[in-house]
Amino acid sequence: MTPGSRSLAVGSIAAGCFLLCATTMGRVQGNNGIRGFAPSRVDAERELEKKLREIPDPQHAEANLRHLTSEPHMAGTEASHRVAEWLRDQYRSFGFDAEIVTYSAWLSTPREVRLELTAPEKRTLATPEQHYDADKDTSDGRAVMAFNAYSPSGDVRGAVVYVNYGTPEDYRELDALGVSVEGKIVLARYGHNYRGIKAKLAEEHKAAGLVIFSDPQDDGYVQGDAYPRGPWRNMSAIQRGSILYTEMYPGDPLTPGVAATPGAKRLTPAEATNLPHVPTLPINAQDAAAMLAHMGGPHVPRGWQGGLPLTYHVGPGDSEVRLKIVMDYQERPLYDVIAKLRGEKDDEWVVVGNHHDAWVFGAVDPNSGTASLLETGRALGELARNGWKPRRTIVLCHWDGEEPGLIGSTEWVEANRAELQAKAVAYINSDVGVAGPNFGASAVPSLKQFVRDVAHEVQDPHTSRSIYEVWRERSARAKDQVTGTARREPPPDPSGDVPVGALGAGSDFCPFLDHAGIPSMDVGFGGDYGVYHALYDDFFWMKHFGDPTFVNHAALARVLGIMALRLSEADLLPFDYPVYAGEIVRAADELSARGTSFDSDANANIKVVTDAAQQFSAAASRTAAALGTISSAPLDSVAALKINRALAGVEQAFLAPEGLIGRPWYQHTIYAPGTYAGYSAGVMPGVSEALDRHDAVTLRREEDSLAAALRRAAARLDDIARLATTSGPGH
Ligand SMILES: [Zn+2]
Repeated sequence: MTPGSRSLAVGSIAAGCFLLCATTMGRVQGNNGIRGFAPSRVDAERELEKKLREIPDPQHAEANLRHLTSEPHMAGTEASHRVAEWLRDQYRSFGFDAEIVTYSAWLSTPREVRLELTAPEKRTLATPEQHYDADKDTSDGRAVMAFNAYSPSGDVRGAVVYVNYGTPEDYRELDALGVSVEGKIVLARYGHNYRGIKAKLAEEHKAAGLVIFSDPQDDGYVQGDAYPRGPWRNMSAIQRGSILYTEMYPGDPLTPGVAATPGAKRLTPAEATNLPHVPTLPINAQDAAAMLAHMGGPHVPRGWQGGLPLTYHVGPGDSEVRLKIVMDYQERPLYDVIAKLRGEKDDEWVVVGNHHDAWVFGAVDPNSGTASLLETGRALGELARNGWKPRRTIVLCHWDGEEPGLIGSTEWVEANRAELQAKAVAYINSDVGVAGPNFGASAVPSLKQFVRDVAHEVQDPHTSRSIYEVWRERSARAKDQVTGTARREPPPDPSGDVPVGALGAGSDFCPFLDHAGIPSMDVGFGGDYGVYHALYDDFFWMKHFGDPTFVNHAALARVLGIMALRLSEADLLPFDYPVYAGEIVRAADELSARGTSFDSDANANIKVVTDAAQQFSAAASRTAAALGTISSAPLDSVAALKINRALAGVEQAFLAPEGLIGRPWYQHTIYAPGTYAGYSAGVMPGVSEALDRHDAVTLRREEDSLAAALRRAAARLDDIARLATTSGPGH
């Protein structure tokens, strides 16, 4: 456990710092320090964390989840409003200042869906999810029929072409086979990219319609026993989900960049650039088998054969389907819950959140996180009742409308962007909080070590060791384990430590990080989870497979609680910029290597980026060293406020005010969802994608914009170094 940032920690511990020394060196040397805390305050913090850890309770978490999953509660419905009111009232009973913030967004719900095989034989498809007596919730008539949010209405017919996962590479393979999808119904399987990307590519290739199915190879019986016998997807289960083009911008399609309040100026739907145009429907594996059984054309390329018991063909052949979708588009209300525990300094906020809307019951997605976060709220409230007052204000948020397109969080960030940029020190997200026993996390690089530090402090519920130790051990042997759709293992970390992933898209941290530059992270427990966005993601599933005793929920509540406590109480915020610099330098070098195969001009210009990356790296080292010289005596509060504000604000320097070219809502120059990857993070996306497209004009502009951002961030770090030097010993 040494390279990278760790060598800096060695230098700074000698100076008695309290920024970097704690868990890396401190632990090794028997020093019980905490990153960011003055030695004189460590004992009090440990005492506080001990008290917090004792409060979260599996039975409480279970009762929370049972309530939250007692009825289907899709965004835009009265049931979603009831959940929001219940959450607000819970927080009020814990002593928080809680309120509901309402927005009005353009949402779609299905009125009618039909999918019929019309040739070579007639057969009605779009079969619904099966009911089971063992799990009465599956017979609830209020569950919404399976649909893809923001599909347009339409009534189309055509021959069927199978496109595997519907990625750009898959379409290139089809081209090579001489098969076109123009005017056809595209059959794609879920996985490997965001479903909105599948819709976008089907649209770009002029398909008439798109049908997306869950292949048993990816999250069904090939992985393990299917529901209700096991946690994997059964043959009738359907993955609902949005196909909004969130890589253009998330949130209400009609109010990009501004909050969807009643009086906001709205686009017409025709003007919105994130609305799809090809009728799209999700189906189950049994319907997909019926379609595939009749397809002709060549046998599929290597890797395209899935887990259904038949030989897959590309098509078109003589199978033909009719797809009819009647969608009801309307402005509908969304209800965010915002609960504040005011600190001594209300001008600094620690923000924690997750969504509360679910496609149906949403036991895992999102309510496991919601049930846990509520326990965190109860614990913090109890500490406050016993006389503790947070230093910084803690804001716990439950977003509505995440499922259709990160809407509740995006609108709130758009409404409060300036205030968040002035006050928020970090955003912690916990969507899909508990799908099993395996802890995992993604974060901006400056907070990766913070996440590991906190994982040291909470016991793994199934062993006598810390979450960190179990996590590290699993990640060391997990490179070949793929666990459903929940939290894949990120690639190895260059430090050799347990890898913390990069933030892509797909949950509510997106507006915080990508639009407002708030340092963010996402944490939770993954596992064998095959019922994502299906009817069966319900209380029965959690009770039988995900977390039967709710101990992982309680553990997650402790993790979130300690994160909130440390960020609230720290003397110096625990950001580690040398780690960020390491990742930036590596990413810039990779771009440079790709640039050499482009043309000499482009490569000359990527040097602007690699130089700026080096400049950022040097500034990060200087700043870490300067912070290391601050004496162990508590900083005077004016100096501390200035330094902390600057530390949290470095991330904002990565924002380009003009945004990425072609998608100006995305302002972060280091992280954005990939235009054709969706969920996974595109690192330095502007430059990287211009290189992919061999677009020299865009490349030039994106390089300049990225380099300018890196230089701005370096200048901010140097400001911190100056502040630290003037507030250090002898001042
Ligand atoms: Zn979710």
